[in-house]
Amino acid sequence: MRSLPYFCRGEVVHGFGRGSKDLGIPTANFPESVVDNLPADIGTGIYYGWARVDNGDIHKMVMSIGWNPYYKNTKKSMETHVIHTFKEDFYGQILSVAMVGYIRPERGFTSLDELIAAIHSDIEEAKTKLDLPEHLKLKEDNFFKTSVSTTANQILNGHRL
Ligand code: ADP
Ligand code: MG
Repeated sequence: MRSLPYFCRGEVVHGFGRGSKDLGIPTANFPESVVDNLPADIGTGIYYGWARVDNGDIHKMVMSIGWNPYYKNTKKSMETHVIHTFKEDFYGQILSVAMVGYIRPERGFTSLDELIAAIHSDIEEAKTKLDLPEHLKLKEDNFFKTSVSTTANQILNGHRL
């Protein structure tokens, strides 16, 4: 996919309370301004890559880009599950992500168990693929080297800095 890697950064906002955290898979939501700036070639589906909260460590992540039923499917959302256990929530902090690979398109599920199983399988795929040298090197990208100020309005989207 020629549009990857894709880098973006924005404040973590409240999602629409589907209780992802209750499923053990919290997803940090980007604001509309970040989602609206996605180029057309970044389609919906499940992606994997690297994520960093403020100036913290860089972790593996999986991200879902999809249509938000809450807004009658007129608004896209971007939700990142960071593959790491955090001591506290990080609403209001700056999330930086490098999307480096695509896992699968969005799909429907007939049960919650089926959904959870699919997400766990996405997480396993992300963990394995991100250990490939071509993906590991993106963890060292300059994108993650610059210090992020915690001002809420800091937003960045782009294929390359
Ligand atoms: P919301 O509907 O507000 O997005 P979630 O249940 O999806 O609620 O929880 C997301 C929030 O959980 C994030 O905004 C973040 O503050 C926190 N969080 C804690 N651990 C993680 C993690 N590993 N990945 C993503 N978010 C996490
Ligand atoms: Mg969420």
